[in-house]
This record gives sequence, structure tokens and C-alpha cells, in this order.
Amino acid sequence: MAISDSTINEIKYRNDIESVISPYVSLKRRGKNLVGLCPFHNEKTPSFTVYPENGSFYCFGCGVGGDVFTFVKLIENLDYIDAVKLLAERSGIAIEETEYDNSLSKLKERIYEMNRETAKFFHNYLMSENGKWALDYLTGRGLKIATIKHFGLGAAPDSWDSLIEHLKAKGYSLTDMLAANVVGKSQRGSYYDRFRKRVMFPIIDVRGRVIAFSGRAMPGDTSGGKYVNTADTPVYKKSDNLFGMNFAKNNCAERIILVEGNMDVVSLHQAGFQNAVAALGTSFTPAQAKLLSRYTKEIVLTLDADEAGRKAAEKAGDILKNTGLSVKVVTVPDGKDPDEFIKKHGASRFGAVLEGAVNETEYKLLTAVADIDITSDAGKIKYISRAAEIIAASENPIERDVYIGRMCEKYGVSRTVLTGRIDEIRKANAKKTAKKEIGEIIRPKFATNAPNPEKRLNPTAAAAEEGVIAVLFSHPDFFSEAYSKLKPEQMVTSLNSRIYGKMCEVLSEGKTLDISDFSEILADSQMSYLVSVINGDSARGNPLIVLKDCISVILTEKDRKKPSDIKNMDVEDWAKNLKKMIDKKRGKRNG
Ligand SMILES: [Zn+2]
Repeated sequence: MAISDSTINEIKYRNDIESVISPYVSLKRRGKNLVGLCPFHNEKTPSFTVYPENGSFYCFGCGVGGDVFTFVKLIENLDYIDAVKLLAERSGIAIEETEYDNSLSKLKERIYEMNRETAKFFHNYLMSENGKWALDYLTGRGLKIATIKHFGLGAAPDSWDSLIEHLKAKGYSLTDMLAANVVGKSQRGSYYDRFRKRVMFPIIDVRGRVIAFSGRAMPGDTSGGKYVNTADTPVYKKSDNLFGMNFAKNNCAERIILVEGNMDVVSLHQAGFQNAVAALGTSFTPAQAKLLSRYTKEIVLTLDADEAGRKAAEKAGDILKNTGLSVKVVTVPDGKDPDEFIKKHGASRFGAVLEGAVNETEYKLLTAVADIDITSDAGKIKYISRAAEIIAASENPIERDVYIGRMCEKYGVSRTVLTGRIDEIRKANAKKTAKKEIGEIIRPKFATNAPNPEKRLNPTAAAAEEGVIAVLFSHPDFFSEAYSKLKPEQMVTSLNSRIYGKMCEVLSEGKTLDISDFSEILADSQMSYLVSVINGDSARGNPLIVLKDCISVILTEKDRKKPSDIKNMDVEDWAKNLKKMIDKKRGKRNG
């Protein structure tokens, strides 16, 4: 990887961190820093901090941090090079093609091109005489030719190598075809077309690139499953994308309709509902929720009235609730899916169904009654207890009050009793959440992929090393003092040793330290660690004294025998202490 330092610096200079982050996070000034709600985890009080002074950000809630490039990389789901390119584009800086070694970047470009070519191949086949079987199927389901063209739908021939031969003729290698997952490789080592005798839906991202395919089997064809989808590739992650989002993004300021199948999306668009999307695969993911929340305010979940549909909607509802989006649920009458319903009753009737969408609490209250006989006392009690759980789950006190009132009126329960029960449930839930939070604190620290795993074995040395790094970042003029006493290889933990090594390299050449110098040599979690170190408290006090003290601690620790047994450490207590520390820190920042 070699974009020149001067280009990187130029890009950084033109993209100050505040202006890059603020379109994604609403930031408020706090002293010389800015804070906001973290876009990388769900939170209600802001832990996400931006430090304009050194161009970094850090979240005290989930521990993610870095520079502008890290931020763009994470939020746009790009690799480092693409993040740099995106920021370069945004600020009108040209990067010379020769400036970067771009094996991955080039492979991605080839996959995008190849996917486009593949989509064209499927589409042309569908429109040809040979593809009549598939076209008949699609038009038989009510799709117009214009819609088929709009979505670039296609068909895969009933053949093991038509696509392979086509792509070969266009100059693509089998290795690349395999990487794009349009081709499979058998155990005997022979290559074959992954999609055969299927109607093909190209999946297009919000930037208009063909990233994957979803192939639907003909009715009655049971060989190989109803759908065959592209697996994850360098340009595609199933859990991060939605079918139809490329069109919906321009029509969804108010709301997005989330449906179950690709076919529903296509027929809803044809009927004028261009804000419909579908999750790719069986379940809805937090990443998809995040994507939606960038474009709209409200999600309408439409679902089949069967048990599976209800479960899926409830799960999606829970995920969406954490994004701050308003969620409504609509049941398509007669247990039909939207596609069937529109065909039978027309678009305007479906519009009316959408208008009748209810919020999630109401929806759950309605469905909870389905299998209970509320004419009996036992049934009534069962329903009211279930309703109490549902109402307790709502975070909106006004909403809770409205539904408590309704339940009391309808079922003749006393308000005091129902309110009391709901308060109990909420307290129990809060306890569970607190326990989960402690669990979350334990896990990252003890996971082997914690940014600096050796810190646990060498806490004193690591803290001193952090002190040295923090002081030198804000006082690079102490470099020769530090370097004369402490060489990088003398640091105890290897991550800090690497960071300090890079700092020495930069400073000895008389250059200015910049955290972006590290995004090339550090992984994301290590970058977060570095940012927390340089913005933390370890350099508090007289910097020169802190530096000298830290160095002497490191040198002592280096020679000390390492503790061999840490198994007796009480994890729960340790985590509780840590949580206290974090809370205290949070309180300080918020206060
Ligand atoms: Zn966070």
C-alpha cells in the first residue's frame, strides 16, 4: 500500500474530522471536543467523542475509535484504500493510479465489472427466444416488460457452463469468477455455473453497482432450493444489504416498506410503492437496520399472517427499535403476501392497508390474543399477564399509560394492580440489562482479540507504556529524551512496542506525528486502543516528569519476573470495578 504521505496529508487536511463525521452523527460541542450518539452501537446517552485537536474519535461505550479514514472505513463498510479514495473524491483530490498497490481494490473493480457483465448475460438470455420459459413465468406473475428492464431481471440457462464460457470470452479468469461467486468449484476440481434454470434478481447497492445475485427456482423445481444467493464476496455482505435499496433510497424520506421476498419488492415498485425493500436471506440484521436508518424515519413491516411471518416481524421490530426509527406493522389481509394482494385487489387497496399500520405495541397486543380464549376467566388472566409484559417493553411512558388505560377499561382490571405489575416487570428487565452490560465489559477485555492482550499479564508496564505514548504525542519535543533512555524493543507489550517504534521512526526523521500514520500498520481495534491512549488521562501532570517516571517503570517491569498465575482473579469483581470506573469517567464527561 503506497499512497504517498503527502497525498494522505492533503486528504486529511481537506477533510477535517468534524465535517466528515457530522453528516452521520449529530454532534454537540463539549469543551474543546464534540460528543454525540455512537453510530456503531445503540445508546441513549452520548459516549461518542470527537477530538478535532488531533483529528480522532473514540467511543467510551463500545471502544471503537480512530481517525477520519477509520471512521469512513467503518461507517461505509469499506477497506482502507477505498476509504482514502472516497475522502479524496469528496474533496476533489486526484490519486494517481500508480500511487497505490491495489490488488484487493483491483479485484473488487473486476468483480463489479464481471457482475455487471453477468447481469447483462442473464438479462439478454431472458429476453431471447431461449429464455421464453422464464419470461413467461415473470409476465405470468403480472410483471410488465418495463418493470423487468427497470430491475434488470434475468434468467440463468439450464446449463453448467454457459456463463463460464461467456465470461471467459470476455477475458475474465476462473479465479475471479470464483471470487465473485458466480461460479462454483466441485471437489474434483471442475468449475460450474452456480445459477442454473432460475429467474435472476441482480442485487444493486446504493451506489448503483451490481454486487450480487439472487436466483429463484421455477415453481415445482425442487432441485437445489427455492433460492440460490451469492455468498459473501469481497464486494458483498449479505447481512449488510437490502434488495431494492438502490431505488428505494430516492423515495423513502418518510417511510420504507420492508417485505419478505424479492418478488414483493418488484411488484410493489410496479404498483407505485417505490419505497419497498426486502432483506436478503432469512433474517433481518442490525446492519440492515442501520442502513435503513440512514435514509428514512419510519419502517412499515408487512408480513404474512402465519406464525413464521409473525416471529420474523417481531424479531425485526426488536432490532429496529434500537435504531430510533418508528416502527409500524401491517398484516396483509387474507394471509396473502403483498404481491398476491395487489394482484387481486389493486394498488389503492394496498395503500389503504398501509395506512392502517399500527405501532409495535398495539400489534403485539392484537396478536397475543390470537390463541387465547378470553371469554373464560383463566384466558382473561393469561391475556392480561401477557399484555403486561408487552406494555412493559415499551420505552415510551405516554404510550404505556394509554395502553394501561385501554386494558383496564376493556377487561375491568384495576389500574393500580396493572401499573404495579408493569413496574415490577420493568425493574426485572432493567436488572437483566445491567447484568448484560457487565457481561459486555468482561468479554472484550478477556477475548483473545482484545487490542492489547498482553496488557492483562503486564498491567503496570502497559500503563507506563501508554503514558510514554500519550506524552510523546502531545509533546514530540521530548523525543530525544525518551529515545535516549528507552528503545522500542524495550517495551514489554508488543503492540505498544510497535506503536512506539513507528513514533520513533517518524520523529527521528523530524516529521510531525499524526495518528493517520498508524492506520496502515494497526488493525481497527488497535487503532481504537491508540486513540483512547492518546486522548486519555495517562499523560496528566507535568509531562516531562510523567515521561521519566513511566520509562523507569517500564525498565523495572521489563526485568521483573512475570506473574505466572492470574487464574485466581475474580472476573466478576474485576468487571464491576471496571464498570464503576467507566461510569465515573462518563459522569465526569457529562457533568
Ligand atoms: Zn460506540
